[in-house]
Amino acid sequence: MTNAPQATTTPSPTPARLTRLREVLRQQHLDAILISQPENRRYLSGFTGSSGWLLISADQALLATDFRYYDQVALESPDFALVQIKMKLADLLRGMVEQAGARRIGFEADHATYDSVQEWCEAVPDCEWAPTKGLVVGLRAVKDAGELAAMRAAIALADAALAQALPQMRTGMTELEVSWIIESYMRTHAAEGVAFELIVAGGPNGARPHARASERPLQAGEPIVIDMGARLNGYCSDLTRTFCLGQPTEPERFWEVYNTVLRAQTAAEVALRPGMTGQEGDAVARDLITAAGYGDAFGHGLGHGVGLAVHEEPRLSRINLSPLVAGSLVTVEPGIYLPGWGGVRIEDIVLITDAGIEVLTRAPKEPILPG
Ligand code: ZN
Ligand code: ZN
Repeated sequence: MTNAPQATTTPSPTPARLTRLREVLRQQHLDAILISQPENRRYLSGFTGSSGWLLISADQALLATDFRYYDQVALESPDFALVQIKMKLADLLRGMVEQAGARRIGFEADHATYDSVQEWCEAVPDCEWAPTKGLVVGLRAVKDAGELAAMRAAIALADAALAQALPQMRTGMTELEVSWIIESYMRTHAAEGVAFELIVAGGPNGARPHARASERPLQAGEPIVIDMGARLNGYCSDLTRTFCLGQPTEPERFWEVYNTVLRAQTAAEVALRPGMTGQEGDAVARDLITAAGYGDAFGHGLGHGVGLAVHEEPRLSRINLSPLVAGSLVTVEPGIYLPGWGGVRIEDIVLITDAGIEVLTRAPKEPILPG
């Protein structure tokens, strides 16, 4: 008798996500919700197409999309019934709402356009259309096992792309050349694309936190900020390191700034734990940078959630008073930016655990490269 290999299929994550969403709908006294935001649509249904709407009620899960995606829905969204759009969603909405048995329907006020909401209200005027904000984003803030595996893979790909790029970096190479070495590695190692336009910012360019790679040649001894991420199976990584080709031309300033940022990051990573608010997490790094005299040069939040979107909940920032919960992924990325000189930012992705955190980013933090 032979032992036939067992078919190993990963169970669909969407039923558990729909269960959590339906609990939220009950709490909000909503009979159904119409999902239009692309990452929320993908999270709840598995559908990766670029156009479609979900209508989810207590016992119905409908996915309306057009001819381009009919087959894809069957493959990617087995837990959803396909509604075939021929012309536009509004034509079918009344039938969908009746199928869902909904009277009070939520819509995503932080994504739907004014124009489309008007169209929906006109198509189904006898229902109450209720604006909602952040319901699915709130669910996405705690990652499930499949998402954590996807994130670990995306983070490892960014680490690998940076590791192979560093030995190739030379004085005189443009920021765009370095950016392309990183991007092409990610693209030839299964990434769908970059998670965002990569930042390679040498010298004064690094003083702008979101500078883009330019044609400026890298110079020896200046700080070079590289902020990069891959999009792999829909999930984004986000990694920043700061380097110097050869010894810094202004060693005293470079090391003071670099070590202040690194100490702030380390202190935050030691302190972060569930129950701490986003504001308290931010303050650990901010207080240290402020005490070193660079408070005004750290003008952004300490970090952000990351997943299907590169910036999502929860935030480590002065305005987030909500407690962090285990299962969230956040970046920890303090920075100091000095106009005319440059910037230093160091960014890891960490998982909030029951006990504290696990740092998922592995890229080393040694800044000096051979010139
Ligand atoms: Zn980043
Ligand atoms: Zn980031």
